Amino acid sequence: MREVAVQSRTSESVITSPPLLKKSLTSFIVFVPFIAVASIPFLWPWIAVPSAMIVAIVLYFLTGQGITVSFHREHTHNSLELRPAASFVMYLFALFSVQGQGKEWVTEHKLHHQHTEKEGDPHSPHLSGGVIRGFIHAHCGWFFKRGWHDYERHVPKLLEKKNLMKLDELFPYIAVSSFVLPGILVLPFDQSMRGFLAGVFWGGFVRIGAVHHVTWCVNSVCHLWGTRPFKSNDQSANNLIFGILAFGEGWHRNHHAFQRSARIGLRWWEFDTGWLTIKVLDFFGQVRTMRLPTPEEMRTKRVG
Ligand SMILES: [Zn+2]
Ligand SMILES: [Zn+2]
Repeated sequence: MREVAVQSRTSESVITSPPLLKKSLTSFIVFVPFIAVASIPFLWPWIAVPSAMIVAIVLYFLTGQGITVSFHREHTHNSLELRPAASFVMYLFALFSVQGQGKEWVTEHKLHHQHTEKEGDPHSPHLSGGVIRGFIHAHCGWFFKRGWHDYERHVPKLLEKKNLMKLDELFPYIAVSSFVLPGILVLPFDQSMRGFLAGVFWGGFVRIGAVHHVTWCVNSVCHLWGTRPFKSNDQSANNLIFGILAFGEGWHRNHHAFQRSARIGLRWWEFDTGWLTIKVLDFFGQVRTMRLPTPEEMRTKRVG
């Protein structure tokens, strides 16, 4: 792979105070799933429905794979190209994680790489004064300062994919169904109101909260704490816990060093379920192209 530096362009994203409706929805998405996770000890044993927990684990995996394989590796970094059907399904899984429209997610992540830890980086933990304030900003505080983006400028290739843009338009409905659908998926195993509500609780609120926080930890934790085995002009770090929990995304130093690599866990012991998913999709002929760093490129950037 020839590592091509992401072109630095003047950002046309404008930081403004989001409208009240967007702020309210952001507050709901940030705080309510978090409250659901915190309430687990108080709702036990009423919520102890095994089928609901299994539905939550399956959806945690699938929606997380959507974020890492589709939004991040395919559409932000062009590190792989999937065939249209697989690309559509993975994009849909990503939307079910309720992290906003794909064009917004991809734009903001591109801005992160173009301006890492400098003015213009939407979620650096190093620009807010102090570790705690920086952590809160990078983790979820920045959602409340999201501005307007010129999508034509930042994600023109994604805008050309009309099927995916139709899914983006359906995002409000997908977000609501992401809370309700898990309850319906539990019903074949437990035909009761308790089964349905436990499905909504585990597969909706808790699962969405869990995927959110592990994803957000890549922005906060993985720019503060961990190891730095490759050269990169920033504070990004490999963090074992979020390497495992965040579908390979926690090997974040590797990612900043080799931004266009489809594989983020570059060494055999760096567990990367996103890469495993790509391998499975490749086995079934669903991967058109993918990029990987050569051993020579890895040697050149290796530290120590
Ligand atoms: Zn990235
Ligand atoms: Zn980063």
